[in-house]
Amino acid sequence: MHKNNNWHKETAMIHEGYDSKEHQGSLAVPLYQTATYVFDSAEQGEKRFAGEEAGNIYSRLGNPTVSVLEERIARMEEGQAGLAFASGMAAVSAVLVHVTKANDHIVCSRGIYGCTFGFLKILEEKYAITHDLISMGTEEEIEKAVKPETTCIYVETPINPTMELVDLQAVVNVAKRHNLKVIVDNTFCSPYIQTPLTFGVDFVLHSATKYLNGHGDVIAGLLVGNDKEEMAKLRGTVQKDFGGVISPFDAWLLLRGIKTLPVRMDRHAANAKILFDYLKNHSRIEEVFYPFDDQHPQYEIAKKQMKTGGGLISFTIKGGKEEAQKLMNHLSLVKLAVSLGDAETLIQHPATMTHSAVPKEEREKMGVMDSLLRLSVGLEHMDDIIADLEQAFQFI
Ligand code: PLP
Repeated sequence: MHKNNNWHKETAMIHEGYDSKEHQGSLAVPLYQTATYVFDSAEQGEKRFAGEEAGNIYSRLGNPTVSVLEERIARMEEGQAGLAFASGMAAVSAVLVHVTKANDHIVCSRGIYGCTFGFLKILEEKYAITHDLISMGTEEEIEKAVKPETTCIYVETPINPTMELVDLQAVVNVAKRHNLKVIVDNTFCSPYIQTPLTFGVDFVLHSATKYLNGHGDVIAGLLVGNDKEEMAKLRGTVQKDFGGVISPFDAWLLLRGIKTLPVRMDRHAANAKILFDYLKNHSRIEEVFYPFDDQHPQYEIAKKQMKTGGGLISFTIKGGKEEAQKLMNHLSLVKLAVSLGDAETLIQHPATMTHSAVPKEEREKMGVMDSLLRLSVGLEHMDDIIADLEQAFQFI
């Protein structure tokens, strides 16, 4: 297997975990679209099940195409081991089940993804695992939220969709003092922009549906940990027995998408900056939220933990839900869709879409107002996207 710790990230995203010599010279990683594997003998089958011989058994337990993806994401996040899942939510739920038990408590950043919030509710209702959503503005605030029964801190940064940042170093400082596990959802940045494990975080996860795949045609999740043994345990328990594994074909598509991640991320970020400059001076706009806004009070945190500002921008328009929906309904090149990280520029209305499951009071505490819209800036020429936005703004 090809491995070279001196490779730059851009090289590792193309080569890590794969050697064509082991696969009949195939340049592309072959797609092992199989559910099961044939043993040479009954004794070999016995040894594999007993863990005495390495080798394939059944694709829920391991698959050669998926293994390349797991090696690659582990290297990209600078972790010890990776696991691939059928969706981002399968990764979120697996790691949360792994780190908690009944009656524990989780400290969460305020503004987490709607279905993650839904999963926390399931944990609370079924297993009395409680949580507190806090803004994590300072180390003291995080410290204050820790209870005797707290076992982990769960963070999204930048926070969706308000683009507030959480200082990863501050979170890790608190976690170390209380022996807590830290989990970071790194979907918004991708490992090209931010690598939370390098700050001392324990687990980093992705909805790989987004930037990692980048082409809007796969639902997948990835999880990377900084402890090989713990990841092996997670693989052999929660992942194996919950069974939310990725399909080989989706792993294959993801490997293809990841090869171009650095090039795409640079263009997403450059386009987002162009759009930010257009939006921030627009007469119909109240406020724009973008992590690399140099006037933003959290700009120093952004520079400390992010390579670029990424490809997401949120903004509030003058007005409310009616104006927001009117703007959306007059767009044609910008597509009305949830999800993010695709080649196409997408717009969505968090209050009635991604965050509609969050109670209004909690949603507004998060800053998700009816006038807020989120743009996932694509790879198109920005003149065309700005022209589309400009004609739509004329209707509100
Ligand atoms: N985390 C974040 C930040 C997301 O935006 C999403 C989906 O939008 C998820 C997790 C869940 O990922 P998936 O839809 O792949 O299950």
